[in-house]
Amino acid sequence: MKIAVLPGDGIGTEIVAQAMKVLEALRSDGVKIETEHGYIGGAGYDHAGDPYPEATAKLAQEADAVLLGAVGGYQYDTLPRAMRPEQGLLRIRKGLELFANLRPALLYPELASASTLKPEVVAGLDIMILRELTGDIYFGQPRGIRTLDNGERQGFDTMHYSESEIRRVAHVGFQIAMKRNKKMCSVDKANVLDTSMFWREIVTEVAKEYPQVELSHMYVDNAAMQLVRAPKQFDVILTGNIFGDILSDEASMLTGSIGMLPSASLDKNNKGMYEPSHGSAPDIAGKDIANPLATILSAAMMLRYTFNDETNAARIENAVKKALAQGYRTGDIYTEGTTKVGCNAMGDAVVAAL
Ligand code: NAD
Repeated sequence: MKIAVLPGDGIGTEIVAQAMKVLEALRSDGVKIETEHGYIGGAGYDHAGDPYPEATAKLAQEADAVLLGAVGGYQYDTLPRAMRPEQGLLRIRKGLELFANLRPALLYPELASASTLKPEVVAGLDIMILRELTGDIYFGQPRGIRTLDNGERQGFDTMHYSESEIRRVAHVGFQIAMKRNKKMCSVDKANVLDTSMFWREIVTEVAKEYPQVELSHMYVDNAAMQLVRAPKQFDVILTGNIFGDILSDEASMLTGSIGMLPSASLDKNNKGMYEPSHGSAPDIAGKDIANPLATILSAAMMLRYTFNDETNAARIENAVKKALAQGYRTGDIYTEGTTKVGCNAMGDAVVAAL
């Protein structure tokens, strides 16, 4: 298993170090893991003048999977757009053709009281959000800021989805639904956007190949509401890039903290990039208080989806559950009566449980 490890910026280095401890523990148990580190985001800019340096691109292309921390930091906010850390992320996703982003929102019973929603609304929650990652308004051309004939300035972007882009992500969605509860809700804004009307038409067509899966459609505004009203009605949610960006962050809060949520981004051969759903959290970077569990759980997803190693994926997940059951909590998920620990100590607790 050849893994490119890209810690990135902010808390990225701290949380990836904890996931590395877990992988090291598996390695000492005989699991064949090779890792190599590279720079991305602000770290890429600092080391090579580019948020996605060529050496990193080569490393990522040659690896079977990528484990990434996060990118971004205040010090890079004034750089020209092409040099900003987020460009590194967009380029690696595009370069590796990682079009399918999987974000599970799963509530561990121990954390039911850490959610801002009532425990009865979220207890037992287990949703998979599948977000298309390489198309939509985030990549559509033309875009920019222009001056109109009347002299007024205007910002503009372009939303589009081609049939093949919709089809391939819809297939991934139906295949995931087949392995779960055979229910998928496709989320769009078909009452207003032509792109969404087309999305709905193609998803409905692909559904014919998966007669066992119950497909429903929902407008994104309603989905945002239903996610906090009755989130357990969902199993798999399939949606486009911009809606998925927002809904998956919303879903993350159902589970108590964004620090708990892993993610996988896959290409058509299940090569994947695995990263926590949160950002580089510059406000808490370097303080040893970040929650490393989303990153550790991302490593578990890597074993499951790219390396087909269900046994060790489940081992990592059970170790996380055990550390939580033993009462260990980082600040973001801390509640009275539990034991507050730092990032490092949480990593150690998971390794001990493993
Ligand atoms: P963020 O996810 O970094 O932080 C949001 C809030 O959640 C902050 O209060 C932070 O302290 C907290 N938080 C995040 N992860 C945590 C963890 N593991 N443990 C405990 N608390 C955690 O989002 P933001 O503040 O909007 O963005 C900060 C930077 O990250 C920006 O530069 C942004 O562009 C970048 N960003 C990167 C990614 C990525 O790398 N995938 C995603 C989102 C944002």
